[in-house]
Amino acid sequence: MRYRARAALIDIEGTLGSIAFVRDVLFPFASAHMDAFVREHEQDAMVREILDQTADEAGLPRDDLNALLEALHDWADRDVKVTPLKQLQGLIWVEGYASSGLRGHLYTDAIDALRRFHDGGVALYIYSSGSVPAQKLLFGNSVAGNLLSLFSGFFDTTIGGKRQTSSYERILREIDVPPNEAMFFSDNEAELDAAQDAGIVTVQLARPEDGTVPTTRHACVESFDEIEVTT
Ligand SMILES: [Mg+2]
Repeated sequence: MRYRARAALIDIEGTLGSIAFVRDVLFPFASAHMDAFVREHEQDAMVREILDQTADEAGLPRDDLNALLEALHDWADRDVKVTPLKQLQGLIWVEGYASSGLRGHLYTDAIDALRRFHDGGVALYIYSSGSVPAQKLLFGNSVAGNLLSLFSGFFDTTIGGKRQTSSYERILREIDVPPNEAMFFSDNEAELDAAQDAGIVTVQLARPEDGTVPTTRHACVESFDEIEVTT
């Protein structure tokens, strides 16, 4: 399928990289290293701030480190999106990417497509529920090396939820591209519907590896090898 577009907005999990990497590698890595990391950096200002926020959020005393770690693990196990946990996971990943050989998973066809679209003059943007710092870590330390220079910008849910049309309208205003000259790639039907309602051209990545169910309201491919985008 061939498209003409000035900008491509792209989801990460299930689109550029595997859902399993985030679920089975990234989050377990943070949980496995949490206790050692917090005990080692307990006196660092950033970690202290995270622990204080955890205490306030969980209604615990600020000096009960065991109880604070228990609360953080409980949030992580239940996938509760709280700021101190997100920040702590981010710090652990920074160290993991730098020294533990952690590498951001990306599908080979996705890496090729990012380079191909970029070379074709298309401005590439990420829109993911992972925080922008976490996104930059992943692309800065990916299986294909540092890919940050391929991107024109990064968006997370601070701009709005991925299933809300207003989020896509906001992003279009921010990148200053009309909807019919922008594309959105995702595995998720509700996200694609929201982008389509904003007038954006949508393509679903229904990767067999991720068990994605193909939709009918959007163009649908199994890999980026089937897609060409130029300006
Ligand atoms: Mg996704």
